[in-house]
Amino acid sequence: MQRRTVWLIFAVVLLAALGFWRQWQVLQPDALTLRGETMGTTYSVRIAGRPALSAERLQALLTERLGQVNASMSTWDPRSEISRINAAPADTPLRLGADLRIVLAAALALSRATDGAFDPTVGPLVNLWGFGPDRGSGEPLPGAVAEIQRRIGYRHAELEGDVLTKTREGLQIDLSAIAKGFGVDALARVLEANGIRDYVVEIGGDLVVRGHNPQGQPWGIGIERPDEAAPPGEALQAVVRLEAGALATSGTYRRFKRAQGGVRHHIIDPRTGYPTQPTLAEVTVYAPDCMTADGIATALMVLGVREGMAWVEARPGIEALFVEEGADRTLRRQFSSGFPALQPPQ
Ligand code: AMP
Ligand code: MG
Repeated sequence: MQRRTVWLIFAVVLLAALGFWRQWQVLQPDALTLRGETMGTTYSVRIAGRPALSAERLQALLTERLGQVNASMSTWDPRSEISRINAAPADTPLRLGADLRIVLAAALALSRATDGAFDPTVGPLVNLWGFGPDRGSGEPLPGAVAEIQRRIGYRHAELEGDVLTKTREGLQIDLSAIAKGFGVDALARVLEANGIRDYVVEIGGDLVVRGHNPQGQPWGIGIERPDEAAPPGEALQAVVRLEAGALATSGTYRRFKRAQGGVRHHIIDPRTGYPTQPTLAEVTVYAPDCMTADGIATALMVLGVREGMAWVEARPGIEALFVEEGADRTLRRQFSSGFPALQPPQ
């Protein structure tokens, strides 16, 4: 065969292969999913389009950022910044790192806005009810509840700039109700800093969304039906389509235990010292960022449907879905007026 013919065949095959590849690309839009474990749960990052950096490099950056957040705020790690602050004596100025300062300031602002329904000093009560790092017996005597209640209170945490002063001996800070949302926002900022504009970042079901999915549509986010028997993600009750914003869910249906006095769970009403009403199964909050959504979701579990709904309706940009469980196990959903429309799962 002549050299020219060989080259011709080669060129035709190459062009055909290129054409096929382009066609395949249209059918298989670029998408990348990264997964890992953090904060006692899992995370996932879904990206549409092709990032400028490799998946390995991006995963390393995300892991590094999560490491920083955990080293700052994990009450389960005795060497974390928050554990050192919790061990420190009262009335001494404690300088906080940038992350901890941001999250504590948001937590204290939410405490004031909810008149103490949200309270980042509630940790000793969480432990007393058997859900914190120092697991208690799980069924405390009423005297023990009142005694601990006297020792807590967000007003005893005074934050000025980046300096915290605990004005009561033994005051503990627990940011579990809001730190996960901050972690989600922190990962989203890593993506943004690397030019990524179409993504869903999720830690343990709390998430932030921006842009479009690989098909060029708003991202579809599944909302679970409260069902303690179903594995996470398998009991979808609906889908919402979002191009921006965050969703966080706080609920009692995955973390609870049965005790003599009924079902006990890990969200405590600081005003009574007791776990919140078990009839409110979960609250899902929509907010511009995930730290806000996460904190408010926990706060609304404490405020309950009536007070909580009024609180939400008075705040533009915040929406909520309350799910109550009746005695016959039927679920009742109540939406705030601007909650993103739910669509049936496909
Ligand atoms: P979340 O899953 O975001 O609702 O957070 C629940 C965690 O927040 C619990 O495990 C406690 O550590 C903590 N917590 C419980 N009750 C409160 C409360 N009233 N205010 C702030 N944090 C709370
Ligand atoms: Mg929360």
